[in-house]
Amino acid sequence: MLDNFNWGGNDDGGNAVATDGESDDEHERLKQSARGKVAGELAKSKKLTPLRRKQYRQAAGNVIEHMSPHALELWHDNFAGINFYPTAEEVNEVAKALKRQAEQDVDSNAFTAAFVDKGGKAHLNGGSDLGDDTERTIRQYYAHEFGHIVDRGGEFSNNPEWQAAWHKEGGDIARAMGKEGSEGPAEGFAHVAMLAWMFRPLAERHFKQCLGFFTQEGLV
Ligand SMILES: [Zn+2]
Repeated sequence: MLDNFNWGGNDDGGNAVATDGESDDEHERLKQSARGKVAGELAKSKKLTPLRRKQYRQAAGNVIEHMSPHALELWHDNFAGINFYPTAEEVNEVAKALKRQAEQDVDSNAFTAAFVDKGGKAHLNGGSDLGDDTERTIRQYYAHEFGHIVDRGGEFSNNPEWQAAWHKEGGDIARAMGKEGSEGPAEGFAHVAMLAWMFRPLAERHFKQCLGFFTQEGLV
């Protein structure tokens, strides 16, 4: 259930089972209650088809399954709701409308497929602007945005230790991400959160120091 991850010195290989039954129960409770919040928000999103609803529930549930107890605690503490939309295009329209409301410049070339707004509410999509709508793609978006929820207020991304790690290892990917703000430590944090939770071998290969920060903070 924690995918090859050794947390708490219990190194019994790929089937790692926590030895402490109580903290195991607590982790399960945190996951269950997170899945409950997602289900509650999905029920409010009336425009979703049953298939979409199921796809979103599975994608979010999959990310939750990979988050550490502490990451989930923070996710709960910072949770301010999730708006689910049938498509990424609709999320993009909402993002632009919020920018106009805040009298910020709206770049017509920018596309926002998913985001967390200033109040901490997540706006989640149905895939990407590339027309790639698989559950796997949706999961990547959700993991990234859940990273922002965990980091709400720059709790971690403002930490100089994080910034040094991201500065050192994030250069190439930041350039590849290429969009406005993508190179910043907060976007970097969400990106590494996605990798650390969902694609651990990639994080280990390309973001050793960043992953070290996640480990030190109990986020993986
Ligand atoms: Zn982001």
